[in-house]
Amino acid sequence: MLPVRVAPVAGEAIDSWLEALARSLDLSLGQLFGLLGISKRRQHALVRRPTPAEIAILVEGTGVPAPVLLAMTLSRYNGIATELDDNTGLVNRSFPFAERAGSRYCPECLVETAGRWQLQWRLGWSFVCVRHRCFLIDICPDCARRARKEPTPLRCAVPSRCPCGADLASSRVMTLPESHAIVAAQQVILDVIEHNRAAFGVYATSGYQQSARETLRDVMKLANRALSYASIYGFRAVKFADLATVASARDSTVTGPVRQRRTRNAKPPLWAFDTAVGVTAAVEILQAPNLKEAGVRARWLVEGQSIERGPGELRSCFGDESIAAAIVINAHAPNMLAIGQLRWRTALLQPRAPDRRKEGLRRMAASLPAMLWPPWLARFPSVAGMRSSKLSILLPAATLLVGAITRPSDVCECLGGFLSGIGLGQSLVVLGETPQWPAISAAASRLNEYLDEHPAPIDYDRRRQLKYATLLTWSSWQTLSRDLGMAATTEEEWAAARCYLIEKVSGSPTAKEDLVGYGLRPRDLRGIVRDFPRVMTAQLARRLDGEARAFLRHKGINEPLSWHPPLDLVAGLGLSAQDPAAIDIDLMHRLATDRKMTVTKLANRLGAEPPVIRYLFEQHPMAADTRSRLPKPLLRRHRDPQVLTEIDRLLRDLDEATLRDLYSSQGLPVKVIAERYATNGVQLSKLRKRYAIPNRDRTGGPTGPRRPRER
Ligand SMILES: [Zn+2]
Ligand SMILES: [Zn+2]
Repeated sequence: MLPVRVAPVAGEAIDSWLEALARSLDLSLGQLFGLLGISKRRQHALVRRPTPAEIAILVEGTGVPAPVLLAMTLSRYNGIATELDDNTGLVNRSFPFAERAGSRYCPECLVETAGRWQLQWRLGWSFVCVRHRCFLIDICPDCARRARKEPTPLRCAVPSRCPCGADLASSRVMTLPESHAIVAAQQVILDVIEHNRAAFGVYATSGYQQSARETLRDVMKLANRALSYASIYGFRAVKFADLATVASARDSTVTGPVRQRRTRNAKPPLWAFDTAVGVTAAVEILQAPNLKEAGVRARWLVEGQSIERGPGELRSCFGDESIAAAIVINAHAPNMLAIGQLRWRTALLQPRAPDRRKEGLRRMAASLPAMLWPPWLARFPSVAGMRSSKLSILLPAATLLVGAITRPSDVCECLGGFLSGIGLGQSLVVLGETPQWPAISAAASRLNEYLDEHPAPIDYDRRRQLKYATLLTWSSWQTLSRDLGMAATTEEEWAAARCYLIEKVSGSPTAKEDLVGYGLRPRDLRGIVRDFPRVMTAQLARRLDGEARAFLRHKGINEPLSWHPPLDLVAGLGLSAQDPAAIDIDLMHRLATDRKMTVTKLANRLGAEPPVIRYLFEQHPMAADTRSRLPKPLLRRHRDPQVLTEIDRLLRDLDEATLRDLYSSQGLPVKVIAERYATNGVQLSKLRKRYAIPNRDRTGGPTGPRRPRER
């Protein structure tokens, strides 16, 4: 044990304390090291992290407990405000603003403590003395050397003296006014480091509290942007640093740093002053109550500069999911078109750069129908100049665009190509300018996030690929309508029911090829399909679902018939002008018995959007005895060259294999087959010729060749 004990000063660095110890013993530092048995070359390394053996020697020799000794070394900040390599003990340069040789200093503190040096001055994060409200000094005013960068000369006895002889304790300081933003920012940084946690400003919202390391990285990124900005426009243009009050003190406040800094440059700025300006701007932005507001506070970084090259550029946000990146994206959001806002997820609480490539797009597209789920569509507001049918295919595409890095045409293709890439872009421009856009884009973004984590139990991609020719054939429709006592069902009703069912199962608009062949113009047919839920009774709905389930089973698909994500996802977004629950169902049913009351007319009458009415009819179908019929004008046949002839219809409903089986193999009488397919023998014979199925009378049917008449 050494004969004299010197207690460390609060916050003192271990090298400073060892020097004080040497002085009290009237020894040179070299002699003290020799006495303790520690290598003189370890002088610098001791400040970073002493070895366990060195700690043991120091405890033994000085009586200072090990934890106190370690707290005087940079290892106390390891992983918090700096990072030391496990093997070499050197400072990790990738840690934000960590690598800094030597020590800054506050002359007034040196005077007060008779030359004891604070450990904290060695951090790249220290730029002012919060006690004396002055900038820390970077270099000796006389020789411009960084203080304590070189090992202390072993015989130097005066602690505040530079090797050049200048007394650092008498350096001139630049003092800041009371409660200046720069001092406040330094205090925020010191608090984050002390508690290893940030809970101020944007971090206060639950879920965003984070460690010092992550927080300092955010500060670093924003500070770098602010300094790049200053390199173009000068320090005084930097918001929040309030340099007008200190400008007279230094010329550089006008000019700014010479070079731009890359956003993720972890090297600390050379000067305390630069660090102060950058960090203060960053802290003031981060002190906003939320990320949206922080984006507003960071607008100056984005305004009046090249988006690609300037300090506020978006490029560096790729692959960066930090709070800082989210803020920069938010700052850019007002400049983005609707499509950009979706890609950059600006409607989310924490936006991030687009990252979903084609593969990810396909995966998510499997969870999305090409037409928005009816219960969802019923929640969306109408958009002036846009039909709800258009909106219903636009919204899934918008949802898929969220976070997508690919072209809009890829998005459309993944959803079955019901929209073109150009069409999607144009519609989004229109949609982006409507007052409903913020709510709509928020809904699309939330839906995207949800489906990313909870894929749909239905593979909509497969549903889009299915062939629906065998779903609800004319014969099954006839059986079904007979069972339900639907007298005199028409082909139009069948067409409507069939297309309705195809849309329900596939989640897509009926394809063009499924619309022809019913004797109706496709446009009119789409109209009656849209009106179909109104004329569908509860029993019919059940039977149709049964048909659809049997169809899926037959295809080997074991999925629910239909599904939709929970509606609370979009609750609170202020989406719907009309709450479906507010509509009087009885009144709707009463009005609907008039066959002229189409869904659209009902919607006008009840003050709701057509999708709401359709959805309500699906939820509350008409009772069988009050069933309405499709409106007359739509039932008018529009005969044109495309119109289906009986043979066309048969070609569709009775395929070759089936007819061969019924006619040739089973040998059913023509009359029975004709009845089953609601046709007559002449038509069947025509069909047989089309399929080149030979007449069984000549070749011999299943009953065997006709026996020669017995003579
Ligand atoms: Zn001080
Ligand atoms: Zn000097």
